[in-house]
Amino acid sequence: MPETVLVTGGAGFIGSHTCVELLAHGYEVVVVDNHANSSPHALERIAKTAGRPLAAAYQVDVRDRPALSRVFATHQVDAVIHFAAHKAVGESVALPVEYYDTNVGGTCALLSVMHEHAVRRLVFSSSCSVYGDARTVPLTEQSPVAPTNPYARTKLTCERILEDVCAHLTDLKVLALRYFNPVGAHPGGLLGEDPQGVPNNVMPYVAQVAVGRRERLSVFGDDYPTPDGTGVRDYIHVMDVAEGHRVALQHVDDRTGMRVFNLGTGTGTSVLQLVAAFGEASGRPIPYQVVDRRPGDVAELVADASAVAEAWNWTTTRDLAAMCRDAWRFQELNPHGYAS
Ligand code: UDP
Repeated sequence: MPETVLVTGGAGFIGSHTCVELLAHGYEVVVVDNHANSSPHALERIAKTAGRPLAAAYQVDVRDRPALSRVFATHQVDAVIHFAAHKAVGESVALPVEYYDTNVGGTCALLSVMHEHAVRRLVFSSSCSVYGDARTVPLTEQSPVAPTNPYARTKLTCERILEDVCAHLTDLKVLALRYFNPVGAHPGGLLGEDPQGVPNNVMPYVAQVAVGRRERLSVFGDDYPTPDGTGVRDYIHVMDVAEGHRVALQHVDDRTGMRVFNLGTGTGTSVLQLVAAFGEASGRPIPYQVVDRRPGDVAELVADASAVAEAWNWTTTRDLAAMCRDAWRFQELNPHGYAS
């Protein structure tokens, strides 16, 4: 079992929750984050939440090979979890070069530094967006991939690079996890999602409406071929995502080469169902208005989560009510996020 885990993007939303989960289970955790889209305050909160400190945290950009190499030279790294990346679909259309540079360039830099230091285990953050506009749901790992935006293409490109590198370096062990829609927060109330500016994603937007920072949610389209016409997604509690990474580390040695797994719940929820659930959890009605569809959006993305269940004997356990309750607790206690 890997003991020292290097987590890139460890101060971000999924990264910070995963660090807590790893610390709580006895791992030594080294964080590398350039804080381009994350707060250094998250690092203190990770330690407070876990009741144990990180082994170290470095403000380093993963594309900076010499700096990254110094981190690997300082710590005996057993495995890497690579979260550091840009993640906003809309922004990726406007800034494709930036997205390829950070997401693909960062992964290449990491792979070369891992090779230099003979680190052979990697868990990679991929995304269900690689499936694009799904013709049939639920999506299995064998469903066709057809990304519809630069962000999704950077994730698929990284997967392809990892396949090629694994074919060459036959002792490498890589798990690529295709996340569906991570939401919620650690139940302790110190860690959560703290987007900069106007939230792109629906859950933090709804939370900011509930706390009074925004007037109403814009629901992007109610004429999709779904039961209530609004988009259906597979929301997964961020603590289930974090737990999934810990379990992945226990299975990274099962086989050499590259393997891909969905990380979802298998349950679809519409935007209006999410709004109702959040209203219930927060005790505050969520005003909304229906507006036009958002360009690039798809009707429905829901995981077939059976592959991880079989391979790891593990499933998610937290439902939509828990996701809303925990997201609301963080928002209520930290109305302005980590700056509160
Ligand atoms: N959505 C919405 N209003 C918003 C943000 C999102 O109605 O302000 C909808 C969006 O059209 C999709 C769902 O919420 O159906 C999830 O969107 P999100 O951006 O959270 O995640 P995505 O699935 O696009 O990665």
